[in-house]
Amino acid sequence: MSTFLGMPSTRDRRGPSPQAAPGTLSGVGRPEDPLHWGASFPDAAKAALDNDQLRRNLGKATSTIRTKRARVVDEVPDWEALRDAGSAVKTDVMARLPELLEELERNVTARGGVVHWARDAAEANRIVASLVREKETDEVVKVKSMATQEIGLNEALAEEGIAAVETDLAELIVQLADDMPSHILVPAIHRNRTEIRDIFLERMADAPPDLTDVPRELAMAARAHLRRKFLSAKVAISGANFAVADTGTLAVVESEGNGRMCLTLPETLITVMGIEKLVPTFDDLEVFLQLLPRSSTGERMNPYTSMWTGVTPGDGPQEFHLVLLDNGRTKVLADEAGRSALHCIRCSACLNVCPVYERVGGHAYGSVYPGPIGAILTPQLTGEKSDLPYASTLCGACYEVCPVKIDIPSILVELRAREVSLTAGSSGDTADRVWSAAMKAASFAMADGARFRRAARVPRLLRAISRNGVIRKLPFPGSLWTRSRDLMEPPKQTFRDWWAGREERP
Ligand code: SF4
Repeated sequence: MSTFLGMPSTRDRRGPSPQAAPGTLSGVGRPEDPLHWGASFPDAAKAALDNDQLRRNLGKATSTIRTKRARVVDEVPDWEALRDAGSAVKTDVMARLPELLEELERNVTARGGVVHWARDAAEANRIVASLVREKETDEVVKVKSMATQEIGLNEALAEEGIAAVETDLAELIVQLADDMPSHILVPAIHRNRTEIRDIFLERMADAPPDLTDVPRELAMAARAHLRRKFLSAKVAISGANFAVADTGTLAVVESEGNGRMCLTLPETLITVMGIEKLVPTFDDLEVFLQLLPRSSTGERMNPYTSMWTGVTPGDGPQEFHLVLLDNGRTKVLADEAGRSALHCIRCSACLNVCPVYERVGGHAYGSVYPGPIGAILTPQLTGEKSDLPYASTLCGACYEVCPVKIDIPSILVELRAREVSLTAGSSGDTADRVWSAAMKAASFAMADGARFRRAARVPRLLRAISRNGVIRKLPFPGSLWTRSRDLMEPPKQTFRDWWAGREERP
């Protein structure tokens, strides 16, 4: 079944319901597949729109970040040139990915690191679990990482009896609530501070019993809880924002200092990184370290930028493993139209400006990658039929803010076209058949002047049934449109009438 304009309304997706009931502490649970869970987007979005608290939380958070971003971007005179440079570097990386990855492997290995290659989530999880088991520990600390969310690493480790403790404040909240992140940068954006206080009191054993919802108190409670974990962990797991091929350097940018703790204190560090996170040279980092903080948190520079190259005797982890993750990325790379989705630096600016995301939140997308980037990346990574390319108004705001100039609207249109051609010729549905019939009728009417003049009477009929400039209900097939949106009253004067009047004027 499809909604009008062909938006599929599939109901066969696995996993839990996409929205926790308002007012409950427990989240949506951990899905079997982090790239495809919950109800279809139309159903999940409908449920999310009924959640007033969620919309208030999202509206406040996204408008705050939007304003901050706009202010710090405006003060950079060569912002557009930086975006062009970022886009050019990423295009170059994609064109030379195999050779750059091998260069990275050589340099990491030469400096004492060990590189592992993982074709998919299962292989990456197996590699990490066996490395942790070798260290004879049952608890690891984690730096916030989209790659490890994508492969469901925490759940895979839990099956091996290993607890993975998220140390980013928002990720900790999501983990304690048995929830899923709903934003790339602010995973607990759907929670307000009262909910966070309640989650800490119920789920964090060492939370002070008199904890209030004052942000500083909440942060101090999490800090004390995490400090104990940092000081006892033997193994840390991180993602990476960037990897420099010509030096073998990895970089993590963050705001809380939890990353710095994880990357320096434990004896062993395991980094799981998507293969697209490469930059060719150390100089190229300069471009991205200007683009990323301004686009993500609206800061001129993020508080902590940690870089490490292999292993340094007597300083930091003495064992370093880098797991290079494919998990569908080479398939995306092979697609000329969609491959620029791999340029993404996960800043989340496109989420914060998206009118659809702002109203429905991240869980409706049923993927760890929500918002506009999720709508183009998730279907390409999974290769499955998806309704996510329709989760957009195509307003273009995402393209305008993207620091690496990914043309998200064009990719969305391309993915929609593929979905339509996949369904065309199959059993099809009502909307497809009606759309096809309407196009044939329009083609017939427009092929002849007299027929077109007669067709121009239809808007007059519509005007007769409109109320206050809006038509709310039409019989079939017009009901396919009016069941989910209003139709504006056609203008009083047709173009032909206007043109004729213009010729008559002296
Ligand atoms: S697509 Fe662009 S704006 Fe969106 S998260 Fe990626 S880099 Fe940021």
